[in-house]
Amino acid sequence: SLTIGIVGLPNVGKSTLFNALTKNDVLAANYPFATIEPNVGVVGLPDERLEKLAELFHSDKVIPAPVSFVDIAGLVRGASKGQGRGNAFLANIRDASAICQVVRAFSDPNVLHVDGKISPADDIETINTELILADLQTVEKALPRLQKEAKLKKDRAPVVAAAEAAFKLLNDGVTLYAGGQDIDVSLLAELHLLTGKPFLYVFNVDEAELGNAAFLDELRALVAPAEAVFMDAKIESELIDLPPDEAMELLESTGQTEPGLNQLIRVGFDTLGLQTYLTAGPKEARAWVIPVGATAPEAAGVIHSDFQRGFIKAEIVSYDDLMTAGSMAAAKAAGKVRMEGKDYLMKDGDVVEFRFNV
Ligand code: GDP
Repeated sequence: SLTIGIVGLPNVGKSTLFNALTKNDVLAANYPFATIEPNVGVVGLPDERLEKLAELFHSDKVIPAPVSFVDIAGLVRGASKGQGRGNAFLANIRDASAICQVVRAFSDPNVLHVDGKISPADDIETINTELILADLQTVEKALPRLQKEAKLKKDRAPVVAAAEAAFKLLNDGVTLYAGGQDIDVSLLAELHLLTGKPFLYVFNVDEAELGNAAFLDELRALVAPAEAVFMDAKIESELIDLPPDEAMELLESTGQTEPGLNQLIRVGFDTLGLQTYLTAGPKEARAWVIPVGATAPEAAGVIHSDFQRGFIKAEIVSYDDLMTAGSMAAAKAAGKVRMEGKDYLMKDGDVVEFRFNV
């Protein structure tokens, strides 16, 4: 499954954030791997549309799309040279589809900073450097082998060219994600390079700064064009323990309209390049995860491989059209429900019923 790896220096609030993310999340029960690995959490993608669909279809329950997070401990200064748990963290992070760096921007003098001072820019640089050094080692180690292969098989030449270009870029201190537009990184998939993954950032800020737009803009500028999410991890972990109305009150007192965790899950999901389509009936209203660009049969295959194999067509109405019409029957009467075939490219928020042969 697609997971987001959480990294960051020690004491920046990773565990606080991870625990808040995964606490009491009912979804975990549906994804057994989540309970086997203590550092993996599966959480539901917040989606208001599901509640509305459940109302319309009198569904018994709502099942949101799963988003997986992995808490990747051990990334410290010098990790690529074997400091701390050294390269142990690498195995975990290689499997992640996107990397979320938690950056400390809170000031609490009682919480020690590993480098003795609070500097988000320096921390980001430190983590970036470690990831770049790790990739540099990987490419350096692979190059002689790739070059040997290219001598035997001509079609391996582009792989060598990509590896050499990557080496040069990394050696200049640039991540593949930020500077690798001219490199066909897909040729290097076998190397599982870390800096080619999409990045996003969580700034763990003091409650008092959450409403300080100028301060947040400064932080955002450090990582643009990557996405930045701002939260007070300590507050988030308190919100989780409160009944909904009290949580809302606390949230409003900090000038926010929704928990930072919800924003993080959404931004993380988008960073993975995913979208959802929806199904609804008396049993459940549910969101299903597909890549952007998936066809109708591919989407059907996410529910069951038989649905893809026996795909005939899909009855589709967009969520917005369905809500405007007010019911499935009204949407049909208004001509908003379409029959789509095997070449149809799914759109986010399509409400779907598949027709298939078993
Ligand atoms: P990790 O090492 O990155 O996993 O950091 P932890 O989540 O263990 O947090 C380190 C310490 O910082 C703990 O004592 C937390 O309670 C505290 N902490 C985490 N987030 C915040 C925050 O937003 N504000 C403040 N003041 N303290 C925090």
